[in-house]
Amino acid sequence: MELDRMDENDWKYHGEGNKSLVVSHVQHCRVLRLLKYPAEDSENPPQTAEQAFRQIQNIVDFTSNVISCLLGEKFVHSGEVVRLPLEFVRQLSIKIQHQRPAWRCDKVMDIYSGCALCLPNLTSPTLHQPTPTPPLCIEIKPKCGFLPSPKHVSKDIKTRVCRYCMHQHYKVANGKWKRRSLYCPLDLFSGNKQRMHFAIRHLIEEPQNNLKVFKGGQCIYSSKEGSDESPDTNSLLHHLRPYFLRGNNRVNGHVTTKAVLNDFIQVLGNALLSAAGGDGGQVTDRTGEGRSFCEASLFNRERIRHGSQGLPTNNILSRILQTQMLDSLDIEGLYPLYCRVEQHLQDFPKDRTGLQIDGPYDQNFLEKVQKCLMEDDDSVEYAAAKVHQYRIAMTAKDCSIMVTLVPSSEEEDDDEEPQAFSSSVSVLDLDPKPLDSVPRQLRLDQKIVSCYLRTGGTLP
Ligand code: ATP
Ligand code: ZN
Ligand code: MG
Ligand code: MG
Repeated sequence: MELDRMDENDWKYHGEGNKSLVVSHVQHCRVLRLLKYPAEDSENPPQTAEQAFRQIQNIVDFTSNVISCLLGEKFVHSGEVVRLPLEFVRQLSIKIQHQRPAWRCDKVMDIYSGCALCLPNLTSPTLHQPTPTPPLCIEIKPKCGFLPSPKHVSKDIKTRVCRYCMHQHYKVANGKWKRRSLYCPLDLFSGNKQRMHFAIRHLIEEPQNNLKVFKGGQCIYSSKEGSDESPDTNSLLHHLRPYFLRGNNRVNGHVTTKAVLNDFIQVLGNALLSAAGGDGGQVTDRTGEGRSFCEASLFNRERIRHGSQGLPTNNILSRILQTQMLDSLDIEGLYPLYCRVEQHLQDFPKDRTGLQIDGPYDQNFLEKVQKCLMEDDDSVEYAAAKVHQYRIAMTAKDCSIMVTLVPSSEEEDDDEEPQAFSSSVSVLDLDPKPLDSVPRQLRLDQKIVSCYLRTGGTLP
């Protein structure tokens, strides 16, 4: 990619989240991830080009020095900051505008800084040989997979119903989504095949912003916010059918839709369970603590026939869960420590740098987080380290997992064998969360819990 000779026609709209917009190269397996601003700020960018560059460099540093050590470098791509010609960025923004979903247009793409994050395109894996059907990539935003410890929460419901399930009621009550999803992260993170199957099936039924499916680099399945229609599961199955025609799927010579869906879920679940990397890390077993089941999940516990297997060591789900669990105090237990840091910064603004509140996210930052004391010694260093841990946990609660399934080329004509796939897994969306997200999280937590207690979890 020659940065001084960029042509908007080489790039196309790929997708976006709340904070960034992504375009992909039409030939090379690259994407550019650009910042977004609230539309009201479109005339006045909220930060200078240098600040935007710093923000993206912070993402790269945080990903490569902190997150990659916690999740395993095999799964993490930190990318690089690039400076793009402003004229290219402006033309690009005009070109892609009509492809953006209306509900995302409360924000505009940053056309002022010329800075972007350049990453490998995780939905278009480089193939070493041609495959019978294009690779499938499944993006899952799993959200938080554990219940907080009763020690730190003021409302008992938080130790019984998980945050995702409570949040669903809040989102439906506020019209963000029309229907509640029956996906529960605790089922996905259980490591139990039946519970994972159940979780993935409900992600497919109500994907919201937790599931997207790509075929040959193109998004073929996702939800539209606030929309009345359910996403078209039949169209997804139509896309999936050619991948699952082999094996024992035939009933009277015909492969049922149910069999296609079951096979797909099984392949995806196995890919998640088999994705292991690096060493270190502990076994994640929360069964003894009684914190591994959410009362709102409709999965029937009696259906677990072989007990809970738990997640294998070093597995990607287990790595993400361990990192999420750096939030050991819950937002309620953390908030007083956040206030201690804030108070200290008001009294000693210069300490902001030494405490590494806004980075740099280097080796030293990681050490502060990993060597944090077990007991509070009333110091600001302790408080800052807990706040850092909490912010890292928030990144792990917000990240996405991209599972790539590459069909193996047909071996002999053995139609009896199910289609084999080689799978790989990456994690994306790994931005550091700012300090002021802490008080926002506390307010949101209070709103979600009181809404759940009011509606008593009685919504359909
Ligand atoms: P969120 O609102 O979830 O925080 P975000 O604004 O931080 O999202 P991302 O999740 O990083 O943005 O990117 C938006 C979307 O772009 C992703 O959901 C994914 O579909 C796509 N995307 C991001 N990075 C890549 C990549 N490296 N390869 C392919 N697709 C990508
Ligand atoms: Zn739940
Ligand atoms: Mg995202
Ligand atoms: Mg994000």
